[in-house]
Amino acid sequence: MAELIQRSALELADAIARGETTSVEVTQAHLDRIAAVDEAVHAFLHVDADGALRAAREADERRSAGQPASALDGVPVAVKDVLATKGMPTTCGSRILQGWMPPYDATVVARLRAAGLPILGKTNMDEFAMGSSTEHSAYGPTHNPWDLERIPGGSGGGSSAAVAAYEAPLAIGTDTGGSIRQPAAVTGTIGVKPTYGGVSRYGLVALASSLDQAGPCTRTVADAAALHEIIGGHDPRDSTSIDRPLPALREAVANADLSGVRVGVVKELGGEGYQTGVRARFDEAVKLVTDAGAEVVEVSCPHFEYGLGAYYLILPSEASSNLAKFDAMRYGLRVLPDDVDSPSAEQVMTATREAGFGDEVKRRIILGTYALSSGYYDAYYGQAQKVRTLISRDFETAFAQVDVLVSPTAPTTAFRIGEKLDDPLAMYLNDIATIPANLAGVPGISVPSGLADEDGLPAGLQVLAPATADDRLYRVGAVVESLLEAQWGGPLLAQAPELGGRR
Ligand code: GLN
Repeated sequence: MAELIQRSALELADAIARGETTSVEVTQAHLDRIAAVDEAVHAFLHVDADGALRAAREADERRSAGQPASALDGVPVAVKDVLATKGMPTTCGSRILQGWMPPYDATVVARLRAAGLPILGKTNMDEFAMGSSTEHSAYGPTHNPWDLERIPGGSGGGSSAAVAAYEAPLAIGTDTGGSIRQPAAVTGTIGVKPTYGGVSRYGLVALASSLDQAGPCTRTVADAAALHEIIGGHDPRDSTSIDRPLPALREAVANADLSGVRVGVVKELGGEGYQTGVRARFDEAVKLVTDAGAEVVEVSCPHFEYGLGAYYLILPSEASSNLAKFDAMRYGLRVLPDDVDSPSAEQVMTATREAGFGDEVKRRIILGTYALSSGYYDAYYGQAQKVRTLISRDFETAFAQVDVLVSPTAPTTAFRIGEKLDDPLAMYLNDIATIPANLAGVPGISVPSGLADEDGLPAGLQVLAPATADDRLYRVGAVVESLLEAQWGGPLLAQAPELGGRR
């Protein structure tokens, strides 16, 4: 069993196809792993053993009839608790949605089911995807499998930790400012934020609608490509969905080659504020890419330094509006004020939002409401939108010179649980390198770049490509992965300490 959970998703699919194992066996192995280690990791908010095994039995029946539904039929997956799942709780890591059972599946979830992937459960996250550490979850933090005293990144720390701890071969995350890529970097896994509009947002509980994008969390670049192909593509239920086919992603991995590829190192992402070991691993990876035949140049994106400021006006503005729907009338929690006899709807709303939302959510609602208020709108929200345009233009200029851009994914490795909890600005700085991609809608991947010398913890390399050229992420990501794994003698995760001796 132990060796089943260590295999990649595509290896598992292959083993199932050859009749060497079954989806039921693979799914059960992961459920056993969850039972063994999730008390320590806390990657899951909800585990659906019955539902997953039922889907696994159906997958096995399709396989024996010679009719697999997809390349990953029968391979289990974990889903971030921000995506609506019919008949399974969806809390967004918030008390305000405790007990809410969506009456429908998000498109991403529906596509996973249609492709035959058993859903193991829902993963932990910062409340409403606000955060970089998963500490803002109302249900307690997730722990980094590399060091249980440290954060797994956020907001999708649960998805990345589940994959890093071998509790799931695949997971779905969402990335509004870095919540797939940064957790991938600090857990030594792969995370992809697709092009905005490349994966449907239908049924994804909105944080900031113009930035949110769901994507794969995996242990190999090839697995991410396979999962991306399953969840991606046009959806008429999402008006921002791109109405054209995805590029061939698995093919990009299969034909990965860097000769003649022009790679731009973003000058503004990587200097001051970046941990020495993170920079060292990044520089070495860039050297490898150069040796592999890529043309590497430095590229300047002068407005990226204003990205964080613009993001923390645009995101709270959109969030304050999106979260207005949690009014105690429609979903989840309803709290009656104890000091009023027959409370008005407004009083119930106030009491519910006071009790149901955590501090970070309240902070951002206040910020966003302020930034959108008449009198300040032009000075804050309007200015931020202008900066957003300048950042998009930086990308356009850069992509006129190079095929992809690279940078460290996050400025530091995983910090200790509690270390930045009382310092929102320090927390926000984790996203400095990932946010520009969300503001411009371009795709990005994080692949492990190695362990920082200072603390022996994983760091990530980020690759960014022009909108709809997601295949370039996979081409470059796959080469970086294979060159580095050749140096390490195997995947970086093989160097992680054992969890409870069960691996
Ligand atoms: N950490 C960022 C934030 O707090 C990103 C969140 C995300 O991508 N969902 O907003």
